[in-house]
Amino acid sequence: MRLILLGPPGAGKGTQAKRIEQKYNAVQLSTGDMLRAAVAAQTPVGQQAQPIMESGGLVPDEIVVAIIAERLESPDAQNGFILDGFPRTVGQAEALGRMLDEKGLSLDAVIEFTVDEDELVKRMENRVAETIAAGGQARSDDNPESFRKRLVAYREQTAPLSDYYGVKGQLKSVDGMQDIDEVTASVVTALEG
Ligand code: AMP
Repeated sequence: MRLILLGPPGAGKGTQAKRIEQKYNAVQLSTGDMLRAAVAAQTPVGQQAQPIMESGGLVPDEIVVAIIAERLESPDAQNGFILDGFPRTVGQAEALGRMLDEKGLSLDAVIEFTVDEDELVKRMENRVAETIAAGGQARSDDNPESFRKRLVAYREQTAPLSDYYGVKGQLKSVDGMQDIDEVTASVVTALEG
């Protein structure tokens, strides 16, 4: 299974990717997680990405495309993958298309989670409160200002991917505001129905 999960921050892409990884024998590839690891390790990429991520902007295409290109080569990605948070721009989608063409591979589907933005802000605030209550530390970009900026970046730079994949006939929509189990069931139906 080669799948893209599309949707704004907080729409549940990561949660759903983890839930269907085993079912489809595919690995979750989250550029957000990879970048956070690079920031934590303070690699040159991490140092460049850190201020951009904290402010809620998008890291330049060439950086994330290089990260994904390398990751797609790794053994665990050979059976299939669930892209979570990539591509986020038309340029990234085109680069992914070229990479897959070179390997003679194609995508099985692009699943878009439709969501209510005000609800996403509330979810983010709840997530932060729960993390702090559990003694953890909230993500540095989970604050109202950065989160709003991430939503704007999604609307302006990522939402056009709905049309991009729609005209290719690859896009399927799922109501991301259902409860978690219902979203998973809808994803499975979209893939198999
Ligand atoms: P995420 O965990 O997917 O919400 O990503 C967290 C942050 O990492 C985003 O707000 C961006 O700053 C950066 N990021 C993750 N994936 C990408 C991508 N594909 N393109 C550009 N920036 C990204």
